[in-house]
Amino acid sequence: MQERQTHSGPVFPILGSTCVVGVIGWPVEHSVSPPMHNAAFRALGLPWCYVPLPVRPARVSEAVLGARALGLKGLNVTVPHKQAVYALLDELSPAARAIGAVNTITFEDDRILGHNTDVGGFLRALREAGFEPQGCSALVLGAGGAARAVVYALGSVGAQVAILNRTLGRAVELARELSQALPEARFAAYPLNESHLGQYSAEVQLVINATPLGMWPQVDASPWPEAMPFPSEAFCFDLIYNPRETQLMRHARAAGARAADGLGMLVHQGAEAFECWTGARAPVEVMYAACTAVLGGK
Ligand code: NAP
Repeated sequence: MQERQTHSGPVFPILGSTCVVGVIGWPVEHSVSPPMHNAAFRALGLPWCYVPLPVRPARVSEAVLGARALGLKGLNVTVPHKQAVYALLDELSPAARAIGAVNTITFEDDRILGHNTDVGGFLRALREAGFEPQGCSALVLGAGGAARAVVYALGSVGAQVAILNRTLGRAVELARELSQALPEARFAAYPLNESHLGQYSAEVQLVINATPLGMWPQVDASPWPEAMPFPSEAFCFDLIYNPRETQLMRHARAAGARAADGLGMLVHQGAEAFECWTGARAPVEVMYAACTAVLGGK
């Protein structure tokens, strides 16, 4: 078998029997999912390949129906299509239904099934980082797409969640919607400001950054004011993975708190999608190595 070496390992030939999956988004060229999944397929010797598929917002329906017609095994769905694909699905997982967003599609016979692996990926990553979220008291900063998955995940394991967001109405709406999906869960919504951060920081066990504050290239930004002490007993989980250590994580560590970045969530949402498509256990270490090779030490 002819192989060509690349930065992420050998490339196997595409055969008539190769199974194809890919990611639809706009843009998709910066996605680390193709190298992450292709490394995983190679590691297990699976005749699969994963391709980037740039899809303009107006063409999402054509793209998903076309992917089914072309015999693709599945898709990842990224920004800005996670909500738009909703109307095309024959069936939804409970998490995808509750959150109103799909990040993974499987094609089974003629049916289009939607999943949200961000939820399970987040929980797996948090536990792998050494924090058990069951019944904890959590502060989620942000109320966008990533926060939806995180808040739902925490609510599903009995955490008490305060959502703090710059636009209060969005946090209120998120708390209201997810309370309907998880009636037992305890969600509250507040504006993201010093007064509310201060009020919660005394008793909180988990702080999650689900805003882009601190993401490259704005690496000096943070949702936590520099002058405000970070609670030393809390665990800081920043969804950002570029850079690998954010300003918020530095702040938390300087206060003696434990902190983790978002690479684990990226890898574990990918691992769950991989498992949905192939039925094989994902080689998580290989996927970490592939992402690290692409992201470098940024
Ligand atoms: P999004 O849907 O655009 O939501 C962004 C959120 O951040 C909103 O709540 C927004 O508040 C808030 N925000 C934005 N700029 C802000 C500012 N200057 N000050 C205060 N709040 C601000 O984005 P997303 O998809 O949820 O992504 C959020 C972060 O999570 C990004 O850094 C992304 O890279 C990361 N992420 C990581 C993973 C992973 O696997 N690790 C997965 C998904 C996302 P408003 O409502 O007021 O606009």
